[in-house]
Amino acid sequence: MSLSQWTAVDNYYNNLLLPEDEILEHVRQSAIDAELPPIAVSDAFGKYLEMMVKISGAKRILEIGTLAGFSTICMARALPEDGKLITMEYEQKNAGVSRANFKQAGLEDKIELRQGAALESLKDLIAENPEPFDFVFIDADKENIANYLELSLKLSRKGTIIITDNVVRDGEVIDMNSEDEMVKGVQKGNEFISKQSGVSSTTIQTVGEKGYDGFLLTVVE
Ligand code: SAM
Repeated sequence: MSLSQWTAVDNYYNNLLLPEDEILEHVRQSAIDAELPPIAVSDAFGKYLEMMVKISGAKRILEIGTLAGFSTICMARALPEDGKLITMEYEQKNAGVSRANFKQAGLEDKIELRQGAALESLKDLIAENPEPFDFVFIDADKENIANYLELSLKLSRKGTIIITDNVVRDGEVIDMNSEDEMVKGVQKGNEFISKQSGVSSTTIQTVGEKGYDGFLLTVVE
């Protein structure tokens, strides 16, 4: 089994199940044109996020890590008319590309992008005492996953769903001697969530065009 086979299977299912999507294709192209790294979620995972938002009936979404806005648009388009999504992005360039994409997708009224270090943006958001979020997607710097989980929980309610991406990392997550800061960040996040009372979590390993990885699904009880 290899990346080429996983990619071929992704292509097979995407061709069967995912309709052509001009908006998402434009988002991918805008990221290439702006020379952003190819680290957005896959088409299949984007659709999964969209479906999770629909299934859960989420009205308020928090996203940490925007890039060009691919996952943001997948989730925001599943929101009801009065839904809202706040997304956080450090890089000014990425924020500019994604804001243009939100406009192009006709979603600029539903999406608010807060540019800056997410730790600061989250603290500012908590100080605003907003209505709790129904759905959180954590997909930024892996070193801060534990902090993002902790702060996201402060913005949650019973039933809030939190998805944390890239927590398997080619299986390296089980190497407790790993020197990789991203792996260490994931391990710290796992440690945090495993000791947290009032939440229920599981991790699903995935393979596909983006290789071998997985996501952590947490529900606030
Ligand atoms: N969720 C996006 C998608 O699937 O389309 C991909 C996000 S990409 C994996 C991670 C993003 O997090 C990058 O755009 C990066 O600039 C941003 N990021 C990294 N560190 C950050 C920080 N401290 N605060 C906010 N954003 C950060």
